[in-house]
Amino acid sequence: MPDATTEIARRRTFAIISHPDAGKTTLTEHLLRAGGAIQLAGNVRAKGDRRRTQSDWLKIERDRGISVVTSVMTFEYAGCVFNLLDTPGHEDFSEDTYRTLTAVDSAVMVIDAAKGIEARTRKLFEICRLRDIPIITFINKMDRESRDPIELLDEIASTLALDTTPVTWPVGRAAEFAGTYDLRKRAMHLTSELPQSDPRLQAVADEVDLVRSALPEFDLESFNAGHLTPVYFGSAIKDIGVSDLLDGLAEYGPVPRAQPGDKRTVEATEAGLTALVFKIQANMDPNHRDRIAFARVCSGRLTRGMRLKQVRTGKQIPLHAPQFFFAREREIADEAFAGDVVGIPNHGTLRIGDTLTEGEDIQFTGVPYFAPEILRRVRLDDAMKAKKLRQALVELAEEGVVQLFRPQDGSAPLVGVVGTLQLDVLQARLGAEYGVAIGFEASPFALARWIFSVDKAALAKFISENRSGMADDVDGDPVFLATSNFMMRRAEELAPALTFRDIKDIR
Ligand code: GDP
Repeated sequence: MPDATTEIARRRTFAIISHPDAGKTTLTEHLLRAGGAIQLAGNVRAKGDRRRTQSDWLKIERDRGISVVTSVMTFEYAGCVFNLLDTPGHEDFSEDTYRTLTAVDSAVMVIDAAKGIEARTRKLFEICRLRDIPIITFINKMDRESRDPIELLDEIASTLALDTTPVTWPVGRAAEFAGTYDLRKRAMHLTSELPQSDPRLQAVADEVDLVRSALPEFDLESFNAGHLTPVYFGSAIKDIGVSDLLDGLAEYGPVPRAQPGDKRTVEATEAGLTALVFKIQANMDPNHRDRIAFARVCSGRLTRGMRLKQVRTGKQIPLHAPQFFFAREREIADEAFAGDVVGIPNHGTLRIGDTLTEGEDIQFTGVPYFAPEILRRVRLDDAMKAKKLRQALVELAEEGVVQLFRPQDGSAPLVGVVGTLQLDVLQARLGAEYGVAIGFEASPFALARWIFSVDKAALAKFISENRSGMADDVDGDPVFLATSNFMMRRAEELAPALTFRDIKDIR
């Protein structure tokens, strides 16, 4: 039996964040190929098709040919087990994207060398920063006309307020891009041998001198704290710089981190098994209410047949058929270690934010709800189904499909989402699973914030004075809804004893 401490130390669980078209898919393919998972690499692009045949679970996935769910890709490289948690590649953000980032130990930020930091990259970066997730930067498409590398490093530093340190440096640019120079190991990685006299080599020597004097050296502590990003240059499509990146992740990439809980922090290396559900994928089979709960193993070893305690309810959950994700075809694993992600089939028992243990009574914190960016009123076409709709909305909100806000003035419930695709998912699932047809109507509200205060009297006063803007979320916690940014700011100014938060940890 493998030694758990050794197994945990070789886990590298990460996600890739980028703006569409920066090269995330191409890089993923080459990462998987480097890890020997060639079979799967060829399939990354065909994900829509593959899903269609494998799990016909959601009509809108079929219709749009997109993958709404987050998948997990596991591969081995340089003695490490890499778990790459994929986030949806479509245009819309969803809470799944955000929550997936709470289940990783690091993120690779892919930047198009011609474009620099783009909107989506920045947004995803902010989420990583909230959770102090260390970021490794991969500047892609160096085989094309690109911006000056120093200028790109400056842009990262100034727009993201993040120190940068190049680990590699590009040799040649655009059509002349010939490989990378590793500043730490002082080694050239070239696609083909260059003569000593090649001007690109001299240029690298000069530039490297310059960056060495101008930029900080790689500092592990600063990287782990999320203050400094090591930067790699490359071309995913030409497979240049991809192994530099993997070597770096293997060498210093964060190992599974400790997980904060309500009573104590759990170290990944502890023997007792703990796991945290960060995502639910519903209805793999529309005829059964089957769900797959994606859980990150936070400590210890998980094996098939184990019985786990669901801390929220105290129920025992038997692990009859957990799914282990391995890239190698037909390889069946029957255990997982801290850092790994497993899929647990269930019939709606497991919820996002659930903690699973071997018996300990601890609830992990850190799987968040994000304040919705879009609020809609649900319009019910058949008034006879009002009760059914209410129940369905609660169930789907508990599963994390949308957030539900019940206005305290008794008006119709509002749903909140981070991306509009979540609304389509809600509509499709209400129809298919509950037989309830709905539409959406504009809501007068544009923003939602959870309100907190240690001063209970001040909180109660605010709630009673702002009744028309107050709602309860699915847990019954108070949420203030405002019609505009201006109104939200004004409310905050008038109630200095309250904090208005755009993130709430799931309890
Ligand atoms: P994603 O939207 O971030 O997943 O981006 P893709 O991986 O689909 O890449 C977007 C486009 O950029 C595709 O046409 C790729 O072939 C191209 N591309 C990706 N990486 C590179 C690269 O290193 N160099 C060049 N020239 N093109 C690339």
